[in-house]
Amino acid sequence: MRVCVVGSGGREHALAHVLARTAEVVVTPGNPAIPGSVATPPVEVDADLVVVGPEAPLVAGLADELRAAGRLVFGPGADGARLEGSKAWMKEVVAAAGVPTAGYAAFTEVEPALAFLRTLPGPWVVKTDGLAAGKGVLVAPTLAEAEADVAAKLAGESFGDAGRTVVIEEGMTGPELSLLAVCDGTRAVALAPAQDFKRIGDGDAGPNTGGMGAYSPVPGVDDALVADVMDRFVAPTLAELRRRGIDYRGVLYAGLMLTPDGPRLVEYNVRFGDPEAQVVLPRLTTDLAALLAAAAAGDLTQAPPPAFDDGARVTVVLATEGYPAGPRTGDPIAGLAGAEAEGATVFAAGVARDGAGRLVTAGGRVLAVTGSGPTVAAARDHAYRAAARISWPGLYHRNDIAREAASA
Ligand code: AMP
Repeated sequence: MRVCVVGSGGREHALAHVLARTAEVVVTPGNPAIPGSVATPPVEVDADLVVVGPEAPLVAGLADELRAAGRLVFGPGADGARLEGSKAWMKEVVAAAGVPTAGYAAFTEVEPALAFLRTLPGPWVVKTDGLAAGKGVLVAPTLAEAEADVAAKLAGESFGDAGRTVVIEEGMTGPELSLLAVCDGTRAVALAPAQDFKRIGDGDAGPNTGGMGAYSPVPGVDDALVADVMDRFVAPTLAELRRRGIDYRGVLYAGLMLTPDGPRLVEYNVRFGDPEAQVVLPRLTTDLAALLAAAAAGDLTQAPPPAFDDGARVTVVLATEGYPAGPRTGDPIAGLAGAEAEGATVFAAGVARDGAGRLVTAGGRVLAVTGSGPTVAAARDHAYRAAARISWPGLYHRNDIAREAASA
């Protein structure tokens, strides 16, 4: 099978890496460190299956365009991708589906938004309605910060039009869990659970980012919890989408919070997580290309259900100085071969070649270094040992990825 992966980040590198076990893979546009990268537009790539990686092209309707051109596509159309493209719409769908989630209201005007905010106990959660690369969410410890954020978002000062509707939510507390389900429009199968780290700083300090690290499996998350999330979250959501005439073929990624009252939905994403893909997909022992092709064809029963090895993976994201606000770019990357000599897998995201052909930093999140081992502790040591071989001026990473899980 020939598979075309659309995208250029660490998630797409991980997809290509694992798909290549059983398929011929091209990646568009990819990046200089992803093998098989081509500049050809997706619709012109000759492939048996197209896998769309990031949310922005899905929200913009790329899967619809490719299906209209006769391609077999893994990824929802623009209708289903609204789950991620509009947080207000997502909340409406999950409320109709009866999925447990935080109470909320959506606003386009400042005064009613502030009035609602003042009725809630803290922490206060203010989200931009549209896509904001994981950075449009403020969880504020004080009402004053939340009020200022509502005013700034509705004025279009932050996130432009994506922020002109805000969703205000009840604050929830508890550990987070990412559970990714592969859907064929009707059925869904779960992938191995993972946990990611969204904040920039150690101890979850500072602003949200696209994701600074992840690990899988998650200690304490058993098959019963996964089955419960599939039954009470994923299945009713797929059914509600179908009721609305939406044939959802792709990843439904449930971002959950394990609150004292049980699991609650924080958000849905409509694609593999980045960096969750870098720890979940390498653990797969079954054929990823066959699984995604079956889902894309609307019949998951055509492929063996996904199974995972008993080992652990931990990925540490190496970012540039200034991320997420204003990343510094253009610095030469040293030590990649050393990291690979440690046996780790390095997935490349924000990289480019400079005039001299050197690999240089070109974005906030540059590399994700995935270590493996029989336990989370061993995989964590492996990832950090390999990451220590890589350097550039201003390289930044968190030091506490999977630290708690490693001692669990
Ligand atoms: P989202 O983009 O909706 O996933 O939000 C990003 C992050 O903000 C989540 O992973 C949580 O850490 C946090 N967050 C979002 N919604 C809530 C909420 N209702 N209560 C507490 N934290 C939240």
